[in-house]
Amino acid sequence: MEAIKMEAIKINEGVMVFYLEGEEYSITSTALYRGNKAILFDTMDNVENCGQVKRHLQQLGITHFIVVNTHWHWDHVGGNSLYQNCTIIAHSLCKAAMERNKNELAERFPVFLPNLIFDDKIVIYLDQLKIELINTVIHSRDSIIGYIPQLKLLIAGDTLEDPLPFIDEVEDLNDHIHNIGQLKKFDLKCIIPSHGNKRRYCEGGYDKTLVNANYAYLSGIMSRAKNKDFLDDSMKDYYGSLEEMRASYKDIHRANLNLVRKHFGEP
Ligand SMILES: [Zn+2]
Repeated sequence: MEAIKMEAIKINEGVMVFYLEGEEYSITSTALYRGNKAILFDTMDNVENCGQVKRHLQQLGITHFIVVNTHWHWDHVGGNSLYQNCTIIAHSLCKAAMERNKNELAERFPVFLPNLIFDDKIVIYLDQLKIELINTVIHSRDSIIGYIPQLKLLIAGDTLEDPLPFIDEVEDLNDHIHNIGQLKKFDLKCIIPSHGNKRRYCEGGYDKTLVNANYAYLSGIMSRAKNKDFLDDSMKDYYGSLEEMRASYKDIHRANLNLVRKHFGEP
């Protein structure tokens, strides 16, 4: 197996993105750190990759970790077992989904469940840094975002994605669109999605155009789902400006169209 190289990208003082180049899409974890303490958002896709993240943080002098799982999907909870003595925070539905899908997840890595769960919103502090963890039904019902008002920073998990959102739990798509619309109201300078373009992380993260682009894509798809030639629509029909497109996202786009057509488009 070819070695996978993890890159640590410093967004600003005390904010680090760990970037892994995958075949179909990138995978990231994001750490907020102060002194010897860190809050780590997501634990990558397996123990080995998350081990690289942990070692990097330990080399920065971090000895105390709190983990946040933004949602239950395998590419976000793979290294939880490295943090068995730590607090692992998630939405109650995240824990429930991990329990329900335990066998499937266990084919990839040892499953270790979140041990502190909440429903709507909690506020935690890293020294003076206030971090709001908010359930927002986008991508999945258990998704939580991390909002740090002092930094105008949004750690988005899979609620926002570049170049386009991967649609899951399609039956809730109208809620997803509405809730992405709500994100436009946040005071934001920097957005860190879990899956995005390396260059954008290196430039300090995304700005609000990512919210607008995801909103335009999903609401565009929804409004055209009943059109006769809907399934032939190209990404360009929905998507203007963002980034060089990975080839794999053409397949994700096709899968999105098929899913939406099946659920909302058939006469
Ligand atoms: Zn993901």
